[in-house]
Parts: sequence; structure tokens; C-alpha cells
Amino acid sequence: MACEVTIKTKNIKSTYFQTPTIVYTLRLSYFSKMNAQNILLINPWIADFAAYDLWAKPLGLLYIGKFLRRHGYKIQLIDLADRQRWGNSKSLTPISGRGKYHKTIIPKPASIAHVPRHYGLYGATREQFISELKSIEVPNLILVTSHMSYWYPGVSETVKILRDVFPESKIVLGGIYATLFPDHARQIIQPDYLMTGYGEKQSLQLADSLFGITRDDSAVPNTLDSGILPWDLYPRLHVATLLTSRGCPMHCDYCASPYLNPNFIQRTPEDVVAEIVHLYARMNVQEFAFYDDALFTNKKHHISPILKSIINHKIQAMFHTPNGLFARDIDGGLAQLMKESGFKTIRLSLESIIPVIQTASTNKVSTHYFECALDNLEKAGFQRKDIETYLIMGLPGQKYSDVEITIRYVFEQGALSRLAAYSPIPHTMYWDMAKKSGHVWDEMDPLLTNNTLYPCATADFPVEKFMELRQLSNQLNANVKSKT
Ligand code: SF4
Repeated sequence: MACEVTIKTKNIKSTYFQTPTIVYTLRLSYFSKMNAQNILLINPWIADFAAYDLWAKPLGLLYIGKFLRRHGYKIQLIDLADRQRWGNSKSLTPISGRGKYHKTIIPKPASIAHVPRHYGLYGATREQFISELKSIEVPNLILVTSHMSYWYPGVSETVKILRDVFPESKIVLGGIYATLFPDHARQIIQPDYLMTGYGEKQSLQLADSLFGITRDDSAVPNTLDSGILPWDLYPRLHVATLLTSRGCPMHCDYCASPYLNPNFIQRTPEDVVAEIVHLYARMNVQEFAFYDDALFTNKKHHISPILKSIINHKIQAMFHTPNGLFARDIDGGLAQLMKESGFKTIRLSLESIIPVIQTASTNKVSTHYFECALDNLEKAGFQRKDIETYLIMGLPGQKYSDVEITIRYVFEQGALSRLAAYSPIPHTMYWDMAKKSGHVWDEMDPLLTNNTLYPCATADFPVEKFMELRQLSNQLNANVKSKT
């Protein structure tokens, strides 16, 4: 049975879900006897039909690690998706940049058993994971993060092994899946504690309570974005993933970012550059991936000074933007700065040229802005055939022809299309629409939201048609790439 225990501090009340209070009291005395305040951070396996590493790092977990370390805790990290550490499927030698993960095929869960594709865990092998766990100091507390909700079988497998190897350690689950599907996560993963929302201060308060530490945390902020993340926890680091901000000022009707990050906060340019300089000069990091949702917002006071400073520091690195950039912010000056500072991978958000979908996308882009951005990037020295454009497909109510004409439009502009299949996410307007059309329901298995399944397919726009669109995009992209 799970019950709710509330830990009160001077001004802040944090709530965790855990086993009954009497057990909690025993745990307190168990932890109080521990000398080392040793916390293990775990980035779990991805479980899916396919997965590809686009410089991903568990940033939320690293922010928590930085926070806990600043408050005196000893931190260890095992990132099961760290390809540089574990290798990929072809060879177990470290490979930098983006690429395929090693895949361990596992039986498909019953609800997706009908899908004719191999299902697997991506990242370290079981043997690598267990061997690593046996080589480290026994942690008192383990913080496990989670990402895509439909990857939860990877979390479940990870936690099973953690329980086997460290039966005495307490396990906390947080992250996106835990926040979006807390009841499901509590039932399936059965962590000792489950956290929703931002984890920095919550983790500190929980750790303090478990370790019997008395601290006046009334002045401790809920989050802390400034400073250098604990990159030293990675044994090898060729590419660093950065956030210059938290959240997004837009409110697209299909996106959970506004729910997960209620406020949009930007770090100072000086703080961002200090982290880049540290990684480049001291850790020999040559590539950086900005993972911001809205990297170019407030550009005059944010990205422009960041890029100018990178140029002034003579940093000869490559910069990637795997999340879509807002085209309307790319004027001639910004395009020039992007070129001079070393931007390599550029992805723009377009989503659709259909007005109703542009409105659902907070009107963050129009064909006019998109074309201006392409012109400006080209004048700055980028090639259109190297610029990828995110297009969304599979929204409730979206038609095949809506996607097709958007793909063809991007082709006519000389750029590459990159189709992003829609996955329904709770707490969004489009989740409610998908609910009304019967494609999702409140107690559904999150596995069924996997975009590989095209969850909102209809008789008029069936899965086969999605495959046709992918083929069309691939074919037109090949034509664009072949142009000299
Ligand atoms: S701009 Fe991107 S991150 Fe921001 S709300 Fe829209 S889809 Fe989400």
C-alpha cells in the first residue's frame, strides 16, 4: 500500500509518495547511521522499436546532480545511454557525435505484441550495467530519471536490476514519465518515492530527511540553472549537451513543455559561455548540442551575445541544434553569427503550412518567415540542402494531403523535411481532442502513445499512408541532397 507523507520545512512543503509512515521512521534511523551521503544518479534504458542518439544527455538528472553536489552530497552517475562509454551495436568502441545505440532485443510487452518489429533496450548491455553497479560504492539513495512515457519498460528493467544489486538502497523515480503518468509509474515501477515536476529542491529535501540532516532551506531555490553541470561524471565526453534556458514561451496545443516547465527562464549569456569555455578548454569538448526549446527567444540579449562571445574566445567547435529553431528570429545578423561561431546541424521548426496547424503551433512560424530564414542562412554561407525542417504528422484531425503539400513545399524551397510523428501527451489540448475521438483514454497504457504506432491514425489516414509520407520525404530529400 502506498501512502503520502509530507515533509515540511520552514516555508516549503514537498510531497512524496512512499510506503507507510512507520516504515519511513525506520528508514530514517537506517539512513542516519550512514556516514557517506552517497547518491547514485541513473539514466535508464530506452525501450522502443527504434532509437537514435542525437547527442542526448539526461540534463534534468544532471541539474539535480549539480544541485545536490553544491549542498554537500557525493554523486555517482550511470548513464545507460552513454554511447561513448558503452559502445554501439556494430562495435563496442567509443563513437562520438550522434549514432545508433547498442540494442538488446527483449520480448514485446503484450499491448504492443502485434507490432511486426523487434523491440529492445537501447544502451549498455545488462552485463555492462551489472558490472558497473558492482564496481561502484554502494549508494544509499538512487535517483532514476525517465524520459518518453512509452519508454517505461526500460525504466522498469533498470529498476529491477538496481533492486537486485542494491536491495538496501532507496529508489526515487522522477522525470517526464513520472510527471505525466504518476499513477501508472507508481504502480508499474514501484519506486520507494516518486517525484513529479522539478527535482532539484525536492531531491535535496528528501535526501536531507533520509540522511537525518537538518538544514534551513528557506533560502534554497527550487531550481538552479546557472553554473557548470557535473560533466566530470562522464568518463569520456566528446559532445556536451547544453540548455541555455528552461522551458518555452510558446504554448503549442500538442506539446507538454508548458506543463513540464511552467516558466520560461534564460541563463545569462556569461554563465552559458563560461560553461562552454570550461568544457572546450579544460575538457577538450569539440562539439556542443543546444537542447533548448526556444534558443533564439530574446535573441538580442541572449543568443547574440552568447555567439559573439564564443567567436571572441576563438572557440573552434561545432554547434548542433537538434530541437527546432524558430525561423522568424533568424535575420541576416543572427545567421552570420551562427556561421561564424560554428553552427553545423541546423533544424528549423515549420510543422505545417496549413493555417489551422500553424495556429495550434502558436504561429511560431509562417511560410514567409521560413523563406526569409532560408535566404538569410544561405547568404551567411549555409547550404539549403543541409538545413532540416521539422514537420508534424499524425495530429488528430490532420489530413494526409496537409502533410503531403507541406513536404513538397519544403522540397521546393530546397531544404530537407524531417517528419515528426505525433505522440499524444496528457495535459495538452490535443490529448483532449484525441480523447474525444477515442484514440486515447485516461487509464491507457502509455506504450500505446508511442509515435511509431501512429496513435491517432484513422480509416482515412491509416498507418500505410504515414509510411507513404515517409517514403515521399526520403525520396525528395535524396533529390535535394543530390543537387550540387
Ligand atoms: S515551440 Fe516547441 S517546445 Fe515550445 S511549446 Fe511549441 S512545440 Fe513545445
